[in-house]
Amino acid sequence: MSWEENVRKVVPYTPGEQPKTTNVIKLNTNENPYPPSDAVWACLSSVHPQDLRLYPDPAATDLVHAIAEVYGVKDSETFAGVGSDDVLAMCFMTFFHGKKPILFPDITYSFYDVWADLMEIPYETVPLDEDFRICPGDYMKENGGIVFPNPNAPTGEKLGLDAIEKIIAGNPDSVVIVDEAYVDFGAQSALPLIHKYDNVIVTQTFSKSRSLAGVRIGYAFGPEKLIKYLNDVKYSFNSYTMNRLTIAMGAACVRDVETFRANCRKVMDTRAWVTEELRDLGFIIHESSSNFLFATHPRVDAGELFAWLKEKHIYVRYFNKPRINQYLRITIGTDEDMRTFCDTLKEYPGIGEDKV
Ligand SMILES: *Cc1c(COP(=O)(O)O)cnc(C)c1O
Repeated sequence: MSWEENVRKVVPYTPGEQPKTTNVIKLNTNENPYPPSDAVWACLSSVHPQDLRLYPDPAATDLVHAIAEVYGVKDSETFAGVGSDDVLAMCFMTFFHGKKPILFPDITYSFYDVWADLMEIPYETVPLDEDFRICPGDYMKENGGIVFPNPNAPTGEKLGLDAIEKIIAGNPDSVVIVDEAYVDFGAQSALPLIHKYDNVIVTQTFSKSRSLAGVRIGYAFGPEKLIKYLNDVKYSFNSYTMNRLTIAMGAACVRDVETFRANCRKVMDTRAWVTEELRDLGFIIHESSSNFLFATHPRVDAGELFAWLKEKHIYVRYFNKPRINQYLRITIGTDEDMRTFCDTLKEYPGIGEDKV
């Protein structure tokens, strides 16, 4: 009994399933269907096995410098971490240390409430409107910080830069974190605002638009002062978070802007025809600016369709949560995968029936 009282007890985040078999069409965790830049492999020969004896650079200088250069900001305005989950967790630890509740949407990335609980940060969720949109006016109340994704997950809806600026300008006493995990698929980045406001952090990741979910690289941009606070906390927690191979791979990857743009373009092109085809089958789809679709069908139970698709070896994401339990989140795969997906749906009773 005694030590039990001293244990930190948490309800962990549940990531999407990673099936053990390879004969599935995997549309459940928003990975990129295309391979990453060839430069990611080519650069590995520059890391000598002998160097692996040594600790890595705690500041990940080469990676930070490459990211800063590509995005046209200073190294001192850039932070790198082990996936944006690590970067966001560090941001929560650094910037959300007040007594007032932090704010984030009621329907959003389901890691935010997990970190808040873990770190004992008070929080309040702000409901999205009926159309599942973030309303900037709802964030004009007392708070200890604000975080939201743009585009939002799992809705895929983007917020315009003017709306984001309104939230930042309206909350000068809070740090506002804009989680841009999907920004490269059709939204506008809030990056320019780091030079206009002292209270904004923008986070991005190599996991989605750069096809490196398996390597774990995320980064953040912010005013120098905020990046310094972030580094101070990181060095106080674990200084050697990024290994030598990852630092080299990340730096090579971010410099290959061409592969990155081409892969984003392919995903967006596929998204356009899949959206149209699913609408023809009777689905209601939110306008997506991300690499996934958020879809509901008036005649079909989403939970049952999710289970049926899984039997057919097609994995999508289903959240059994209030307001969204009749929706599926479908990652955009290759054209071939999405063809199979759409054709398989036509076999499901109730889908496509109003089309003759
Ligand atoms: C995927 C995702 C992340 C984190 O991705 P990493 O792989 O840890 O970089 C962060 N926020 C949102 C909204 C995401 O969907």
